[in-house]
Amino acid sequence: MIRIAIAGVAGRMGRALVDASQEHQDIRISAALDRADSKFIGKDVGEFLGQAMNVSISGDLKSVVDHFDVLIDFTLPSASLDNLAVCRAAGKAMVIGTTGFTDQQKQSIAGLAKDMAIVLAPNMSIGVNLTYRLIELAARVMGAESDIEIVEAHHRNKVDAPSGTALKMGEVVAKTLGRNLDQDAIYGRQGNTGVRDRNTIGFSTIRAGDIVGEHTVIFAGAGERVEISHKASSRLTFAHGAIQASKWIMGQDKGLFDMQHVLGLS
Ligand code: NAD
Repeated sequence: MIRIAIAGVAGRMGRALVDASQEHQDIRISAALDRADSKFIGKDVGEFLGQAMNVSISGDLKSVVDHFDVLIDFTLPSASLDNLAVCRAAGKAMVIGTTGFTDQQKQSIAGLAKDMAIVLAPNMSIGVNLTYRLIELAARVMGAESDIEIVEAHHRNKVDAPSGTALKMGEVVAKTLGRNLDQDAIYGRQGNTGVRDRNTIGFSTIRAGDIVGEHTVIFAGAGERVEISHKASSRLTFAHGAIQASKWIMGQDKGLFDMQHVLGLS
């Protein structure tokens, strides 16, 4: 039985994780965390399901660090980094779904992974991780002769843009074509933009309503275009992926991994 802690348990993903955990016989939620000033501190995490689970929500990771094997974290970049420091000191593994890390923060995470096992994935869905491979194939076959645009849509409460998944898709395209995303990315357009430069990779962001997460990569050439799309209809898909990652990471000693490793796609 793997003992799991959830950071950000009162959030949208945290609640989806509590829900999804009921379908896995080989894991148990043994700790739950949210912001120290959250109104949910001290409440039973089972309240989100309407049944007692006898795990009270804590605002202090250090006080519960002996109660779990893996921490699944869907919070904010700064919170995830604080949690990483505590987990490294205690020899615990982490599965991080939080998005919006800066390049410098990502480098810090890579450094910490020399001492601990970390799965970091901006999108834990199996479908999206398959989509990365389809994008790689499309980029290889028609990327050099296509205009490549990435369009993503999310709910109105998402605070970072473009999504971590859209950026990852851009990285897959750039890497396959031997290009540098930092140089080629265009984040939105306005005014007299001039003719499109073939080497750019365009990003468009929609924030509206309760859209769970949609991504499309367009490869538009002369006379035809290919569009590769993924649409998530429930957060449970990310939650099940994160739980799958937490089982997989128990077999790892240290290192930085993503869902491609977890799913055996890399
Ligand atoms: P949310 O705002 O609904 O929930 C975040 C939760 O984290 C809140 O309950 C908040 O109180 C809590 N939190 C903030 N600071 C904290 C701290 N210091 N310690 C403990 N808890 C803290 O957000 P959400 O929609 O659940 O998304 C959370 C993150 O996960 C975002 O970065 C989002 O982009 C990302 N996300 C990733 C995936 C994926 O598959 N990797 C899927 C969905 C969302």
